[in-house]
Amino acid sequence: MGDLGRTRRRMRAKFKELDLPRTRTVDDLCAAVAERTGREIRLEPRRMKVGEPSGFVERRAAADIVHFEQETSALHQAHIICHELAHLLCGHLGEAPTPEEEEAAAHVELPTLDPDLIRLVLGRSHYDEAAEEEAEILGAELTRNLVLAPGAGTTSQLAPALEHRKGQHV
Ligand SMILES: [Zn+2]
Repeated sequence: MGDLGRTRRRMRAKFKELDLPRTRTVDDLCAAVAERTGREIRLEPRRMKVGEPSGFVERRAAADIVHFEQETSALHQAHIICHELAHLLCGHLGEAPTPEEEEAAAHVELPTLDPDLIRLVLGRSHYDEAAEEEAEILGAELTRNLVLAPGAGTTSQLAPALEHRKGQHV
């Protein structure tokens, strides 16, 4: 795998290049990131199931939907969202489907499969280890860029959140 130090330097340089404004809320951060990616970003809280990652991006024709665990602290949610935004900024996702492709996919019938399972399989992106490393580092930079409200916790409290994520996101 790649040299972690080098990845760290590259991601920090990328973060500087993005020249994001300091934002108070994840919504404002999403809007700023959307300006950089040129695509709408929507936040979709949900209750993740056992075995699901704590967050993932679903690339739709009209927008990138960031799904994130709702049953956790605001700080942990911010970290999950920042990690997923980092995947977007790094270009780790494939091409968005065209509206026609999306329409066609909606009509494919998979009656024997659990709808939740279908969403899991189709909506979840698989990244390699190098991509995960990039997203962890850039995501941490994005989290630090948030001017979190008092009581939301400090960045040092992110450590358990990071531990929690480990191995859950493929
Ligand atoms: Zn990831």
